[in-house]
Amino acid sequence: MKVPLLDLKAQYQTIKDEILEATRELYETQQFILGPAVKKLEERIALYCDAKYAVGVSSGTDALLIALMAAGIGPGDEVITSPYTFFATVASIVRVGARPVFLDIKNDTYNIDPQAMKDKITKLTKAIIPVHLYGQCCDMDAILEMGHAHDIKVIEDAAQAIGAEYKGRRAGSMGDMGCFSFFPSKNLGAFGDGGMVTTSSDTLYEQLMLLRVHGSHPKYYHKVVGGNFRLDTLQAAIILVKLPYLEQWTEARQNNAKRYRELFRREGLDGWVSLPVEKEDRHIYNQFVIAVQSRRDELRRFLNEADIGTEVYYPVPMHLQPCFKYLNANKGDFPKAEAAARKTLALPIFPELTDEQQAFVVQKIGAFYSS
Ligand SMILES: *Cc1c(COP(=O)(O)O)cnc(C)c1O
Repeated sequence: MKVPLLDLKAQYQTIKDEILEATRELYETQQFILGPAVKKLEERIALYCDAKYAVGVSSGTDALLIALMAAGIGPGDEVITSPYTFFATVASIVRVGARPVFLDIKNDTYNIDPQAMKDKITKLTKAIIPVHLYGQCCDMDAILEMGHAHDIKVIEDAAQAIGAEYKGRRAGSMGDMGCFSFFPSKNLGAFGDGGMVTTSSDTLYEQLMLLRVHGSHPKYYHKVVGGNFRLDTLQAAIILVKLPYLEQWTEARQNNAKRYRELFRREGLDGWVSLPVEKEDRHIYNQFVIAVQSRRDELRRFLNEADIGTEVYYPVPMHLQPCFKYLNANKGDFPKAEAAARKTLALPIFPELTDEQQAFVVQKIGAFYSS
């Protein structure tokens, strides 16, 4: 048996005809830049995420970048975020010229711990980027409250969390802006790169729309320097086909998570393996990440030899990345992020995963720890 970490081909087979039809229509119109497909997708995503507006952009990375630009973050500013995230979160802060300030995570959800946030706020703090890691929202009440009290913009990195909820509120609807990614491995993946920024602020929306097209309005008159941050129309047409399936795919992921819990319990692996903790309302399981007490890399090699795909998100926390050395952080500064980097392993959780494949994964992990 083979169990890939993600099987996009299986999903494609179920929607192939619709995708080919939608893209064929677009080829006939030759309308590849913005246009009705992007607009329609923006309306649907705004609705799905409970936001007033959504702006289609070129990637999740550019969603973060343009959001920071729209918020006016730049040199001299500080932005609080997690040291345990995908590189793009922190890199975008650096790319606008601001300084990332790290806040350690909680060891159960891997999301930032707002308890220590107050100590990180200075006169220079202009924004915080909570990352809803693996598909579960951060503890947003505390973050929003602090943001409000100190006039700090809250930019949600919801790249892994489309449709996730916190106290009945959707990811991307709570902060000033929400950043989404349509990278193929996300729950709603394009056939290439793509992203979206959600907001319910009229001013931020206008700013985002302007920055997306080189700050040009009217055409060839530039009020500000933006970039080419447009969402590809072909990708928008593809995502429009996939969006109606998102609920059922998310439910399949949630069912897979439930089944893993049963299987791990039955295999008696509780002592060896910590399963993901579900704290907030709606975890959408972009990843199912376990933590093991020991021999993580050995386990990964063992599973790989059994044709089971896994991944380590993320082996090096951001404060220890060579390119962020100038921030002067040391090993030991963010112990929970460092522990997560050492202990966690993502297992296959994609919607089309079968019962047999899941049983095989858990059985192999059991075999490893009993040997
Ligand atoms: C995927 C991801 C991004 C970047 O999205 P891209 O579309 O790959 O540029 C940013 N932040 C997080 C947390 C992500 O998982």
